[in-house]
Amino acid sequence: MNKLALGIDIGGTNIKLGLVSREGGLTEFDQTATPKSDPELSVAIIAGIAEEFLESAGENFDSIAGVGIGFPGSIDRLDGKVRAAPNLSGWGGIALGNLFAERIGQEVFIDNDANLAALAEFKWGAGKGLDPLVLFTLGTGVGGGIILNGEIFHGAWGGAAEIGHQTIDFNGRVCKCGNRGCIEAYVGTKGVAARTWELLREDKGSLLWELMGGEFDSLDARLVGVAAKDGDPTALIVAGEITRALGVAAANMINVLNPASVLLAGGMTEWGEELLLKPVIREARHRALKSHFRSCKIALATAGIKAGVLGAAALVFRQ
Ligand SMILES: [Zn+2]
Repeated sequence: MNKLALGIDIGGTNIKLGLVSREGGLTEFDQTATPKSDPELSVAIIAGIAEEFLESAGENFDSIAGVGIGFPGSIDRLDGKVRAAPNLSGWGGIALGNLFAERIGQEVFIDNDANLAALAEFKWGAGKGLDPLVLFTLGTGVGGGIILNGEIFHGAWGGAAEIGHQTIDFNGRVCKCGNRGCIEAYVGTKGVAARTWELLREDKGSLLWELMGGEFDSLDARLVGVAAKDGDPTALIVAGEITRALGVAAANMINVLNPASVLLAGGMTEWGEELLLKPVIREARHRALKSHFRSCKIALATAGIKAGVLGAAALVFRQ
């Protein structure tokens, strides 16, 4: 019963591995570059990396409670195959769980990384025991996970919780999904950069010019956050629009699901309480039904870059 679970978080850039106790303690953690081979070879390489990781911790596949995997894409729960993986080209249609299980000789548990981040927060993090729980992941795109009745809510085949593609302005900016006015079109990396450039054309004195240092591709939410904290007017306008958009999206979730918790996770949480969390709460308070808003904890997630590993391990302990 005291066995550790191995959590593997496969990302577009890095693979993270961790050994996690039943209480959510992370005893070993490591990360390495994601192999750029075809999926079948990549699975073999990742299995090898996992084996070495276990060995160095004095464990092996038989000594642990099980293996959980987080994957950056949607997995069809009807046939176990990867349906789409925007950040890992060529992985569509691959039966990832089966391939991995064959390699290591035991069953593996697999789910979408944002779903697992939500599960990690529900089990051990900022939303511990708060059910239902909605988590927004704020990164290159905007994703999410929903915990309902103590379990990841998957929808009909596994595609639930695409909360970044909820419309917040039906005449709005075109999103990469083809719709107009998705929250991702404002809060995702491309949307943030596009809006900031609109304003920078009229603001040659912005601190952002200095922060970019001539590397104009570097303009992203992180730089906007740095400039906003310094009081830069353009960055503050962009940050204000982003947090209003997020507050609207949070209010939508609050009214639809009556959640006990709405959490914000991902790179943008580096903005912190003053610049991100408090303005989102303020906007959500204006928008959501009062009774629903009052009973919902809106907070920053706490698991950080280890969320995927923790969530993958949590998946093992739920079985
Ligand atoms: Zn969209």
